[in-house]
Amino acid sequence: MEPETIVEQLQSKGHRMTVPRRWIIRVLCEADHHLTVEDVHRRLVENDIKVDEATVYRTLQWLKENEAVSQTDIGQGADVYCLIGDQPHHHLICLNCNHIVDVSDDLFAGLRETLIERYRFAPRIDHFAIFGLCEGCRSELARDED
Ligand SMILES: [Zn+2]
Ligand SMILES: [Zn+2]
Repeated sequence: MEPETIVEQLQSKGHRMTVPRRWIIRVLCEADHHLTVEDVHRRLVENDIKVDEATVYRTLQWLKENEAVSQTDIGQGADVYCLIGDQPHHHLICLNCNHIVDVSDDLFAGLRETLIERYRFAPRIDHFAIFGLCEGCRSELARDED
């Protein structure tokens, strides 16, 4: 997704686009993977943008409230942030070897429908992490049990 598209969407909702806000969106757009608050902050400092980590955190929360960014615990100690974009993605994360597999959003279509029908609950499944065991680790563990 282009930074300008996101900036325009937020402006059309009446939000004021400050320099740090614009830069944080740009950093997220340029990142090819997940970023922690610290990662985003480091990239801003590298570009001579003077903001503290608390501002970065608040801005990421604001982007999350505006459904532009997701915040997820993918088992790395710190939550990671990424742009939701047009097509959300999700992950399967192995608890044993930490291997991460990307999975597509259509997997969750049924779950969304069930939650709204059965519980009248509209879930926000924008970046979901499912923890478990990958195929390699499962067969390794099965071998150990023999
Ligand atoms: Zn992801
Ligand atoms: Zn594994």
